[in-house]
Amino acid sequence: MKEKKLMYQIGGQMMHVQLYPVYYLFNRSLGVYIYKAGSGVDDEDSFVITCCLDAPQAKNCAYIDVNNCGADIVKWLEENGLGKATGRKVQSGYVSYPEFLFDESILLEYTNEFYAQYLKWQEELGEEQEFLIRSCEICSKEFPLIVSKKAAAMYREYQEGAPYLIQDIFPELSNGERGLLARGQGICESCFKEMFALFPN
Ligand SMILES: [Zn+2]
Repeated sequence: MKEKKLMYQIGGQMMHVQLYPVYYLFNRSLGVYIYKAGSGVDDEDSFVITCCLDAPQAKNCAYIDVNNCGADIVKWLEENGLGKATGRKVQSGYVSYPEFLFDESILLEYTNEFYAQYLKWQEELGEEQEFLIRSCEICSKEFPLIVSKKAAAMYREYQEGAPYLIQDIFPELSNGERGLLARGQGICESCFKEMFALFPN
């Protein structure tokens, strides 16, 4: 498929640019770079137009970094047929970040190993599920958990101090997995066991 020619103003100059879809490891959500055509995503002029927020996001949706790119970028994305703003916004600090649904066929024109991985992860999710990725504070091993959107929403409230019990939020998870998610714990099962092992035994 032939790529659509995109023009974007970088450093006061209209430039032919390309997209580079990636993902955020934090929650396996979509991220998108813009870079000068002919150079690479590692070029000094390339920049990210998305930001990583701890908020729910559907497939091919991302929060646009209007703080760094300016609010006009959403209009630019729409006018160039790259997708549609969903109308949803998430507040973080002083900034309200608009959610944008990228057209999958456009992202596929610019696909790479990262976007392929992103799509593979998305296939693992059911309609009402999302990834919750946590790493153990002791061994740093990463544990990608798939949880319901409802549980994830409750968990976000819990992290902000809501008086829920972790087992009520995630009744389907094992004790070890809950330990990883519990406030003030963040330790995987094997590190937990090691910590509380009877010594010498
Ligand atoms: Zn661990």
